[in-house]
Amino acid sequence: MYDVLIVGGGATGFFYGYQHRRKNSPEASGLKIAILERGKEVLTKVRVSGGGRCNVTHACFVPNDLVKFYPRGEKELRALFHQFCSGDTIEWFEKHGVELKIEEDGRMFPVSDSSQTIIDCFLNTTKKHKIDILTGQSVQSIFRSEDSWKVETNQQTFRCENLVMTTGSNPKIWEMLEKLGHTIIPPVPSLFTFNIKDKRIKDLMGVSAFASVKVKDSKLSASGPLLITHWGMSGPGILRLSAWGARELFDKNYQFILEVNWLNDATLEETENQLKELKLEHAKKVVGKNHLLISPTDCGKVWFWLLKFH
Ligand SMILES: Cc1cc2nc3c(=O)[nH]c(=O)nc-3n(C[C@H](O)[C@H](O)[C@H](O)COP(=O)(O)OP(=O)(O)OC[C@H]3O[C@@H](n4cnc5c(N)ncnc54)[C@H](O)[C@@H]3O)c2cc1C
Repeated sequence: MYDVLIVGGGATGFFYGYQHRRKNSPEASGLKIAILERGKEVLTKVRVSGGGRCNVTHACFVPNDLVKFYPRGEKELRALFHQFCSGDTIEWFEKHGVELKIEEDGRMFPVSDSSQTIIDCFLNTTKKHKIDILTGQSVQSIFRSEDSWKVETNQQTFRCENLVMTTGSNPKIWEMLEKLGHTIIPPVPSLFTFNIKDKRIKDLMGVSAFASVKVKDSKLSASGPLLITHWGMSGPGILRLSAWGARELFDKNYQFILEVNWLNDATLEETENQLKELKLEHAKKVVGKNHLLISPTDCGKVWFWLLKFH
């Protein structure tokens, strides 16, 4: 019989295990805690996070400001960030031997630039705090009896007093939780790239620019680096738009017109002036014949492209 069983060996499960042990001490020091993970390995998503570097947190230390970075859940997150914010995260990792660094855009990574550092930190911490990690245990069903939980995996049956579900995105588990009386908000895709079939970008694969993008006839807009790919558009600007517009784009069945302002937020007048200045500055410069020359009068043509999204 376990005191606490955590289902899911991802970042949430590991951090929860540690917090439970620490927060409930001194009684918690004797508690029997285990993490059940269906895979052969734990923390697999942490490994690939942040392109293998793990973007641990953001250098924004005020809860009311930090919530603005999240497309949904502002109210719930605000309460949580008042209890544990980015500063606490930095302190926690420092205390556990991981130094973090801030990048120019505010993102924070381990100094090692490797997500393995974060994985090692979690593994060492759980080991030190005597939290069992049981892999290859895929939870199939959960039952509540009067005084405990019965948890059936593909291998064996466990009993525990407290059950914590940290399974991330698993529809089967959501179904189980719904049967237990929890409300599940139907999930929709988020953070995706756009599939665009438009001959105007056909030969521009690999071109990137800092642009602002807008979904026509909606309030959805974003700006940031935009990359033209062989299937359409990608890059932080597009990913941001898809995250903030996840529900609205789902409602539109992902069919919409995307407006791209290649000049970002600059006005036509500002850009014209900039080009005129460049022209004066480099009046005598010889430009190779393969360079694209944009004259101020061309600006209007690159101002907005209307693209049909498929
Ligand atoms: C490519 C990519 C890059 C990312 N980069 C970053 C980043 O840099 N910074 C950042 O903060 N976030 C990043 N994220 C998001 C981040 O990885 C997730 O938010 C985070 O890992 C979620 O952790 P979790 O523990 O909630 O879920 P998960 O990591 O998904 O863990 C859930 C665990 O539960 C297990 N499980 C599921 N069902 C069962 C079952 N029935 N029985 C037993 N075990 C089960 C799964 O196998 C899994 O190990 C990235 C995500 C992706 C996909």
